[in-house]
Amino acid sequence: MRVLYVSTEVHPALKTGGLADINAALPRALEAAGADVRLLLPAFPALLAHATEIGPPCLLGPALGAPNVAVLPCRLDGLATWLVDAPRYYARAGNPYVDDRGRDWPDNLERFALLSWTAARFADGSIGGWRPDIVHCHDWHAGLCPAYLRARGGDGPATVFTVHNLAYQGQFPGSRFSVLGLPGHFFTMHGLEFHGQINFMKAGLFYADRITTVSPSFAAEIQTPAAGFGLDGLLRSRAGAVLGILNGVDTEAWNPRTDANIAARFDADCIDGKTRCREALEQACGLSTSSGPLLGVVSRLTPQKGLDLLRACLPQILAEGARLAVLGSGDASEEAAWRAAAATHKHSIMVHIGYDEALAHRIFAAADVIAVPSRFEPCGLTQMYAMLYGALPLVRRTGGLADTVQDAGPANLADGSATGFVFDAAEVGDLLATLARLFALWRDRAGWQCVQDTAMRRDFSWTRPAARYLALYRELRPQA
Ligand code: ADP
Repeated sequence: MRVLYVSTEVHPALKTGGLADINAALPRALEAAGADVRLLLPAFPALLAHATEIGPPCLLGPALGAPNVAVLPCRLDGLATWLVDAPRYYARAGNPYVDDRGRDWPDNLERFALLSWTAARFADGSIGGWRPDIVHCHDWHAGLCPAYLRARGGDGPATVFTVHNLAYQGQFPGSRFSVLGLPGHFFTMHGLEFHGQINFMKAGLFYADRITTVSPSFAAEIQTPAAGFGLDGLLRSRAGAVLGILNGVDTEAWNPRTDANIAARFDADCIDGKTRCREALEQACGLSTSSGPLLGVVSRLTPQKGLDLLRACLPQILAEGARLAVLGSGDASEEAAWRAAAATHKHSIMVHIGYDEALAHRIFAAADVIAVPSRFEPCGLTQMYAMLYGALPLVRRTGGLADTVQDAGPANLADGSATGFVFDAAEVGDLLATLARLFALWRDRAGWQCVQDTAMRRDFSWTRPAARYLALYRELRPQA
């Protein structure tokens, strides 16, 4: 089964969010399950700098305003990869999607259309003598792949489009449609047009043979007006093609038994090291020691993540002797609000604004609780990292959070399945009530340790999800 895996970032070479973690782990898990997977990514400087075994380029000529497009075969941390080399669009420093003031790059239409255009060029096997059975594309950046393949016609590869975050759709003025080089009838309601705009996400949802998203709950939620970001009607009409496959986590990178970033190693059988990790973080960040729990947050700071709800509960949290360690970056107003909270409660709240992979590991290892009060969450990774590191997740019942965390309510506590705390409505009252349950369990040390033990022994590896993707590919291409 030959799979062309089309996306934009991959850990550790380039990461702006959870997608990079998934792109590093899922292709490897698919290979372990027997697939021949090749990544296709734009030749962003961070990826070029990280690439090894770069082979001779395959020249594709001019396309979408780029004078010379080439495809460079290489490896990224062992993964067979092709980089789409078009310096005009990709050779720029900084974030792959936005400039240093957080504005979309003005030529994002061409930049990400070119990625999909290139993917479609693989269909005839003329690049590297390798013809994919499946083109698996991810999020709006690769949403045009199924459209270009459909426009090409013939018996090309089957397409799978995975939605990691429906909120970001890649919308551009309809007046620019001709730039894409797609047939005119693609720019209609029964195509990639969305209220007069070009919509890359809609293209993926409309033209792909199958749509997957990263948790079963999110797959159901996005088919409702409340969580469909305007595309729920289309998703309902394609309900038979939509499948939710829960993400896994990279259990090599996220393993407290072997993690080199943390002060002491530990696991479910010997958890003593976790206390050392907590003490180390408290000391390094000037946090007071206390008998209350240490709450951690590792997150993008955007309204999606619901951290305003957590801030509204700070008086009650601090009154319980709890402390907070927050690592995040994002919206200026969110960053300012967290900075202000830390300035007011110097010894109880540590806030680090920025992106820091090592500190993220140290927070998961040190924390007793990781808060993920998201308004919506397609899958979420941090609640799973939390469980593996013995920090109980405090999450809202939405998307993948609902699918991965078992609430410490009476029934789950009684049968030993509880792994964290789940609240329902994105409202302060609901969160406060759940915090009250959390602090009550904290005082019951044996009860807490029992939940912690269950959480740490959960299997979040990629083995199961990879087998499900492979089964999906086989359904689409039984002969491959
Ligand atoms: P999303 O993809 O919506 O940002 P996920 O929970 O799926 O949310 O993935 C977030 C990933 O990014 C996790 O690996 C998390 O540890 C990491 N992360 C988020 N913010 C930071 C930060 N400021 N520093 C380090 N890692 C971060």
